[in-house]
This record gives sequence, C-alpha cells and structure tokens, in this order.
Amino acid sequence: MSDVERIMQLVKDKDPGEREFHQAVSEVMESVAPILDRYPEYRHQRVLERLVEPERVILFRVPWVDDAGQIHVNRGFRIEMNSAIGPYKGGLRFHPSVNLGILKFLAFEQVFKNSLTTLPMGGGKGGSDFDPKGKSDLEVMRFCQSFMAELFRHVGANTDVPAGDIGVGAREIGYLFGMYKKLRNEFTGVLTGKNLGWGGSLIRPEATGYGCVYFASEMLATRNQTLEGKTCLVSGSGNVAQYTVEKLLDLGAKPVTLSDSSGFIYDDAGLDREKLAFVKQLKNVRRGRIKEYSEKFKTSVYTEIRPDMTHNPLWDHKANCAFPCATQNEINGQDARNLIKNGVYLVAEGANMPTIPEGVDLFIEHGLLYGPGKAANAGGVSVSGLEMTQNSMRLAWTREEVDQRLHMIMKSIHKTCVEASEQAGKPGNYVVGANVTGFLKVVDAMIDQGVV
Ligand code: GLU
Repeated sequence: MSDVERIMQLVKDKDPGEREFHQAVSEVMESVAPILDRYPEYRHQRVLERLVEPERVILFRVPWVDDAGQIHVNRGFRIEMNSAIGPYKGGLRFHPSVNLGILKFLAFEQVFKNSLTTLPMGGGKGGSDFDPKGKSDLEVMRFCQSFMAELFRHVGANTDVPAGDIGVGAREIGYLFGMYKKLRNEFTGVLTGKNLGWGGSLIRPEATGYGCVYFASEMLATRNQTLEGKTCLVSGSGNVAQYTVEKLLDLGAKPVTLSDSSGFIYDDAGLDREKLAFVKQLKNVRRGRIKEYSEKFKTSVYTEIRPDMTHNPLWDHKANCAFPCATQNEINGQDARNLIKNGVYLVAEGANMPTIPEGVDLFIEHGLLYGPGKAANAGGVSVSGLEMTQNSMRLAWTREEVDQRLHMIMKSIHKTCVEASEQAGKPGNYVVGANVTGFLKVVDAMIDQGVV
C-alpha cells in the first residue's frame, strides 16, 4: 500500500463522514508522498500520521437568548491542529454549514498556509453552526459572549490566537475580545482582526484580497504580463472579494462579477470605485443582498443561483482571470471546463479550497496559472501575524509599512512555491510548490521537538 493510500484509508476509517477533510488531506498527501521516498526518516517518524490527527479538538455547547426571549443552542468548535512552529492560529467561521469535518479541513490547510507565510504561526480553526444572517447586533453580541465564555480557557496570545473567517468580522471580534478581557482581566493580543483603536492592524481588512491580487500579479509576471486591462471574474462579496476588487482596480484590471449565496451580478461595464463603495455599504453596513446592485446599476444583470444547478453560470463568461473568493468547492468540474473554454488562464483562490479536485487537475493539465488558496490567500493570516507582532511590541505600524510587508510576504511565498515546484520536477505547479514548502518546515520542527 502506498503512503497516500495508507493515510487516506486511515482518515476515512477513523472519520468516515468528513468529506472536505479527506479532500484536503488527499491533495497534500499526493504532493508530499515523493519526499518520503527520498527521505525515509519522515516515514520512520510517522509524520503523516501525526499531521492528520489534530493536537486537540474542543467541542462545546453555546446557548444564547434571542431578542424575543427564546433560548437557542448552537455548537462551538476549536480545532488546535498543529503547534510545531508557533501558537495555533486561524479564523473562526460562523455559518450553518459548519461541522467538525469542515473545520478540520480548514485547520489542516491553515497549518501549511501559515508555514508558507514565513511567520511563526501554528495552525487552527474554529467556529459555530450559528447563522448570523438576519440576527440583530444584540443577538450576535450575546452569542459571541456565550461562545467566548467557554473558549477563553483554551486560547491566549501565546497559545491560540483566533481571528475572523466567513461570518466573523470586526463586529464579532470586538464582542469576543470584550468577553475574553472581562473573564481573564487581561488586555492581550488574543484575537486578530481587531479594530484599529484597540490593537488592530492597518491593512488587516484589506490583506486577504490585496494579497491574492499581489500573488496573481507575481504569477502573471512569470509570463511577462500584468493585470492591466484584464477582465476578471470575482465570486463572493464579503471582505475578501471586496478588497480583491479594490486592488484589481488599483492595477487597472476590469472586475465584472460578484456574488452571494443567492445569486451573482455580471456588470458588462466593469465595477469601479463608486460601485465598490456601494457594495461595501450594502454588505458591511446594511447587510443586504447583492441583487440590489443590479437594481442600482443598470449596466449589470442579476442571476439567481439555485441549489439544483449543475454548474455556476458566474464562471461561464469570457474573461482572462478568475478569483474565487466565496467558499469551498464553489468551482466544480463543469465550472472549470467553462472557465478554460472562455479563455481564463489565471485562477487565484481568495477562498479556502474553492475548487474541487477534478477542477484543479483540469487547470494544471491545461497549463493555467493556478494559485491554490493556501498560497494565494495567505495574505490575511500574514497580516494577522503582523498584528500579533505589533501587539507584542505595543506599537502600531503605518499603512505603508504593513502593506509593504504584506507585498514582500506574497512575493516570497510565490518565489518559494516556484522554486519548490521546480525541485519537485513539476515546474509551475503551485499546488505541489505550496504543499511541499509548507510541509517541510512543519515536519522538521515536529521532528526537532520529539514525539509529543
Ligand atoms: N480565516 C483566514 C484564513 O483562512 C484568516 C485567519 C487569521 O487571520 O488567523 O486564513
């Protein structure tokens, strides 16, 4: 039995229902298996078996009271996946789809992503099946307080530092931080993504989107191209999508789509600053639906996305580049074929694992510049790392300083991926490059630290 088969059998036997976790593990195993033949010490040290088992999983009840006085019970999680190179670090996701398998896939990806950033951060992820959609501020506050009333005993600035993800932004981080501070009587950098006035970092909201576009620019530069004039499909309309669009506009590209869970807009004239400002207000302040965009801007059309659709028509438009910034598995095999047919030759993933394995294989087979999430979206957690640094120093850097560091980190991730892909005999394969680079740093640290 090969190493890949052995590990896949192991994770499937142990946790048969965790489909997304199996998918994430399988992709990494395929990339790193050849290393084990060259360095049998890794096999002897059982590094693969150790990597796929979280160091700790915390699962807890989150009871809360809604505005009508009704009691609700949600489930809270924190997966502390790997702390070989630093405190556990990774976001919290509040979404009805959240379960153990999804959070384990995200925590697993986070381990390699964080290793790639060059900063000292281990990997973790957490969240809840709580749905913030339609909830009042007070309901969200009570939920966050109840969530932290358990989580506070497991996290800390040197232990585990959560942040945001889908459904968790500055508002939620504020409520979570307030509760942590009250319970511990301690003002520390236990969370990142904080607001500026009390320990947050400039550029953190922008970081994932900006970083993704910096990574795309680096990929294009290998073919002596830039983003100027390129038509770009962007999915999602939250934080990552908004700042992807912003940076695309800075660099002279033409973003034409945005989406949410109900549907997407296609704007033939392209988004501009004014339209983006409308989207920010719509999504971040009014918490409305993207459909309103097409009511306001007549150059655009809205298409509903129904669950029974076999493909997502957002990916079926003529374009040069695609930036999936919504959620996992949003590009299936048919979507990937449509993208290729429509002339898309660059895909940079702002979301985590947005492409199913068949799509990834197609992108690589057809020679697309394909930046997998754990490399292309590492800018967010990188600036979280920089927020931790600033908190430890009790200093705040300027916008320029943080942006410059972010840019340098994304360039360095790109360079390392290219070099590692060449060394692995798969030049230009960023999946192999990212997985191998992330893997080596973590497992070498694990071996140094003994069997713990
Ligand atoms: N949730 C983000 C990610 O997927 C950011 C995590 C963080 O800043 O810790 O990388």
